[in-house]
Amino acid sequence: MPELPEVEITARLLDRALRGALIESALAPGINALKTIDPALGELQGRHIDAVRRRGKHLIVEVSGGLALLVHLMNAGRLQLYDRRAGPRDRTSRLLVRIADGRELRLREFGSKQAAWVKLLRAGALEEDPALAKLGPEAWPDAPPLEHVLDAPRPLHALLRDQRAIAGIGRSWADEILWSAQLSPFKRGEDLDEEERERLAEAIQSTLATALAHYEEVVRLPIPDKLPMPLRVHRHEGEPCPRCAETLRSVHFEDYVIAYCPACQTEGRVLKDRRLSRLLR
Ligand SMILES: [Zn+2]
Repeated sequence: MPELPEVEITARLLDRALRGALIESALAPGINALKTIDPALGELQGRHIDAVRRRGKHLIVEVSGGLALLVHLMNAGRLQLYDRRAGPRDRTSRLLVRIADGRELRLREFGSKQAAWVKLLRAGALEEDPALAKLGPEAWPDAPPLEHVLDAPRPLHALLRDQRAIAGIGRSWADEILWSAQLSPFKRGEDLDEEERERLAEAIQSTLATALAHYEEVVRLPIPDKLPMPLRVHRHEGEPCPRCAETLRSVHFEDYVIAYCPACQTEGRVLKDRRLSRLLR
C-alpha cells in the first residue's frame, strides 16, 4: 500500500506538473470508485487545478472555484499523469481527468479488487469529511506529538499504523522505523522510557525523510505502476540485517507480516506468530 513517502512524492510531482492546468472534462469509468454524487463530476469542466497535496495517505487535488478531489489509493491504486488519453480497453482506470492540453490524470487500480476511492467535495467540506476528520497529526515533516499516542498498552507496530494517532505510516514503513529505532514491534507504547521515546521520534523523522529524498532522486512522471520502495527490512526476512548481519525474521500478526532483526530489536528473541488466536476465534 502506498504510504506517506509514496503518496507525498506522488503529490509533489503532480503538483509541479499540474498547477494551473485547465480541466476539459472528467469521468469515472470505475463506477464504484466515485463515492459522491453532489457536486457532479461535470462541475470540474472548465476549472483549473490549483494544487495537489497530501494528507495522511490521501491525495487532495484542489480545483479552482472551491472544489477538491479527495483520493485514497488503498492497496493497489495509483494516481498517474499521462501525455495521452487512455484507450477504450483500459480496465484499470477508475477516474479520468482530461486536461485541455491533451494530458490525462488517471486514478488507476491494479488487481481484481476495487478499493481505491475518490470523492468530489466542496473545499469547505474537505476537512470535515470523515476520512480526513479522524486523522491524527502528520508523521512528517514536523515531529508529531507522541506523548498521548504512546501512553497506551498497545504494541508499537499497531500504534504507528493507527491513522487516528499519527497519519501516514503503514505496515512497510512501521517495520523500517522500528528497525531504525531498534525497538521491538510488540513493545507496548506505555513501556517506553524517555530515551526510547526519543529514539522512536527520531527514527520516524529520519526514515520518512530518507525515503522521500530517495524518491526525489529516482521517481519521474508518470509514477511507475510499481514504485521501487527503498525498504531494508520489510519483506527482507531471511536476509542479513543491514546493521548487524543477523538473519532478519518475520512474524505473522493479525493478517499481515512484520519483519524485524532479533539481535537489534528483541534482545535475540524470535517472536511467535500471533495469528493463531485469530484463527481459533
Ligand atoms: Zn540487526
